Amino acid sequence: MDAEVAVIGASFAGVSAAIMLARARRRVVLIDDDRTRNRFAHGSHGFLGQDGVPPAAIRDKGLAEVLAYPAARHLPGRVTRISGGPDDFVLEGPERLGAARVILAYGQRDILPPIPGLAECWGKTVNQCPYCHGYELADRTTGLLAVDAIPMHHATHLRDWTDDLVLLENGVPVTAEEAAGLDRPGLRRAAGRVLRVRHSGGAIEAVELDGGRRVEMRALYLVSTQEPAAGLGEALGCRMVETPMGRHLWVDDHQRTSVPGIFAAGDLCRPFPSATQAAATGNTAGAACHQDLLGLLPAME
Ligand SMILES: Cc1cc2nc3c(=O)[nH]c(=O)nc-3n(C[C@H](O)[C@H](O)[C@H](O)COP(=O)(O)OP(=O)(O)OC[C@H]3O[C@@H](n4cnc5c(N)ncnc54)[C@H](O)[C@@H]3O)c2cc1C
Repeated sequence: MDAEVAVIGASFAGVSAAIMLARARRRVVLIDDDRTRNRFAHGSHGFLGQDGVPPAAIRDKGLAEVLAYPAARHLPGRVTRISGGPDDFVLEGPERLGAARVILAYGQRDILPPIPGLAECWGKTVNQCPYCHGYELADRTTGLLAVDAIPMHHATHLRDWTDDLVLLENGVPVTAEEAAGLDRPGLRRAAGRVLRVRHSGGAIEAVELDGGRRVEMRALYLVSTQEPAAGLGEALGCRMVETPMGRHLWVDDHQRTSVPGIFAAGDLCRPFPSATQAAATGNTAGAACHQDLLGLLPAME
């Protein structure tokens, strides 16, 4: 057996899981292809002791801390297949690896609407989470893009960051109840589909609507849909949870998936992205996986 535990994904969740196992002196290997969800952002905010630090720097520091333990190993590359079962998993990837347990920590990927110019601004001036980047983008003329539904929650939420919000309806119908909720000072509505985002090096300047209208703005929010960044859990038959934002893996209180011997942590098993929550669930997964190796976990219900 190459490793007692293989962790797929070496970011907030995976590194936090691995350090628990390394400290328990269990052989743990972290396999990662270096495409973290927040790689588009200059800084990560709201993470204890690291507010505003570039995401890659946080990850590199955490990884270096884990690899200081002799039981830990890092393998760059992508895992493409997992087969076998508890005490006998086989992972195909940069190397063929055997492991007794597996922790899936490969995150979610955001699916952005295919509007030219939008992706170039993602993580810079176009974001989903105002807690993450709203402070830096506050007090600007700010767009709020409807994708599949009118984002009523964000429309209220954003009032603490801007008093000049433009709802871009983008062809999504507005109900009478929604219209009443949107009727407040500091919020304008712009009908019409968004055809293009104009920007300078990721700094949004305006959106162009069908009919030729241009709406100036210096920040934009949208509620992206998401999906697992790899299909490994689904291929194993792990139970999924569907939400209006997309699908993620189901886990129990010990971060166990529905497949014996397979644990999961981080964004992959939560509908809302958060580096802190990813680290917290990674910590739980690492400890629970260790206890499972010792036969200490209760049977699953
Ligand atoms: C633009 C943006 C900005 C954000 N800013 C903030 C912020 O300021 N504060 C905050 O708390 N949260 C922020 N978030 C959310 C934050 O990025 C996530 O909550 C966090 O990265 C989740 O950590 P994770 O370890 O679960 O997954 P990730 O960080 O996404 O890491 C998953 C890792 O798994 C690897 N991987 C995937 N598939 C495979 C495979 N098959 N084989 C090997 N490796 C694989 C990936 O390459 C990646 O390194 C932001 C998100 C976005 C999109």
